[in-house]
Amino acid sequence: MEKILRGKTVADKLTEEIKEKVSKLKSEGISPKLVMVRVGDSEDDLSYQRAAINRFIKCDIETEVVELDENVTQEEYINCIKKLNNEKSVNGILCFRPLPKHIDENIVSKEIDIEKDVDCFSPYNLTKIVMGDYDFAPCTPMAVVEILKFYGVELVGKNISVIGRSLVVGKPLSLMLMNENATVTICHSKTIDIPKISKESDVIVSCMGRLKMIDKKYVSEKSIVVDVGINFDEEGNMFGDVDYNSVEDLVQGITPVPGGVGSVTTSILAKNTLRACINQNR
Ligand code: NAP
Repeated sequence: MEKILRGKTVADKLTEEIKEKVSKLKSEGISPKLVMVRVGDSEDDLSYQRAAINRFIKCDIETEVVELDENVTQEEYINCIKKLNNEKSVNGILCFRPLPKHIDENIVSKEIDIEKDVDCFSPYNLTKIVMGDYDFAPCTPMAVVEILKFYGVELVGKNISVIGRSLVVGKPLSLMLMNENATVTICHSKTIDIPKISKESDVIVSCMGRLKMIDKKYVSEKSIVVDVGINFDEEGNMFGDVDYNSVEDLVQGITPVPGGVGSVTTSILAKNTLRACINQNR
C-alpha cells in the first residue's frame, strides 16, 4: 500500500465515474442540479463553495448558490428550503453549517426534503445510518470511508479509533465504520488516555479540529492515519490534527492536509447529487 493516501487520486477516479453517468443521464434529457444555501460570508463556507463549484464543473453537474443575509430569520430560512424542496429542477440541497445561533438547526433540519438531502442534514436520514440502510450520509465521513476503500485498507474486524464525536463527522463516521464490520472506539474530549487507545488501533481517524495534536505518542508502525481536521496556524497556513512531519516516517499510511479528506468531500457531494437525481427520476 502507498504510504501517502492522497485524496486527489480518489477524487479524480470518482469524478470520471460521475461524469460518465451524468453524460448518460443528459442523453436521456435529465440534468442533475445542486443548490447550496449559504447564510453570511464565512471564509470556511466560501472556500467550500468554491471547491464544490469547481468539482461540479468537472463532473458536468449544474450548481446554484442561494446567498442569505446573516440576519435572515428562521422563518425566511425555512421558506427558502421549502421553495427548493418544491422546485422540480433541483435534485440536491446543501445547507452550509453551522447556521447562525438564532436559527435552530434541530428545527430547520426537519424541513429539508429527505430525497434532496445530499449532505444528510435531516434527522430522518441520520437515523437511517444507525439502521445501516442509507442513500445519503454526511459527505465528510463518506469521504473517509471512500479513501480507506480506495487504498485497499481492510476494515472487517479491524480496530479503529475515531477521535471526535460531532454529528457531522465523528458520530456518523463511527456508525459507518461499524457497518463495515470494524470494531470502533469513539474518543472525545473526556476520554482518558487517547494515545493508549489510538496506538493499539489499526486505523486512527482524527476529527477534532486540534492543530497538530496527534503526534508520535498516538501512533505505531501499523497505524493508518486519516486526518479530517482543518486548522490554521497564526500565519494562516493550513494543517490537520496530525503533526504530519513527526509521524509520517513511523506509520503505515497517512492522509495529507491539504490534499487528503477535504479533496474527496466535494466529489462525494457530486456523487450524492447524482444519486438523488437518479432516485427522483426512477
Ligand atoms: P466539532 O463539532 O468541533 O467536534 C470536535 C470533536 O472533537 C468533539 O466531539 C470534541 O469532543 C472532540 N475534541 C475536541 N478536542 C479534543 C481533544 N483535545 N481530545 C479529544 N477530543 C477532542 O468539529 P467537527 O465539525 O466535527 O470538525 C472536526 C474537524 O474536522 C475540524 O477541524 C473541521 O474543520 C474539520 N472538517 C473537515 C472537513 C473536510 O472535508 N476535511 C469537513 C468537516 C469538518 P467533545 O464532543 O467532548 O466536545
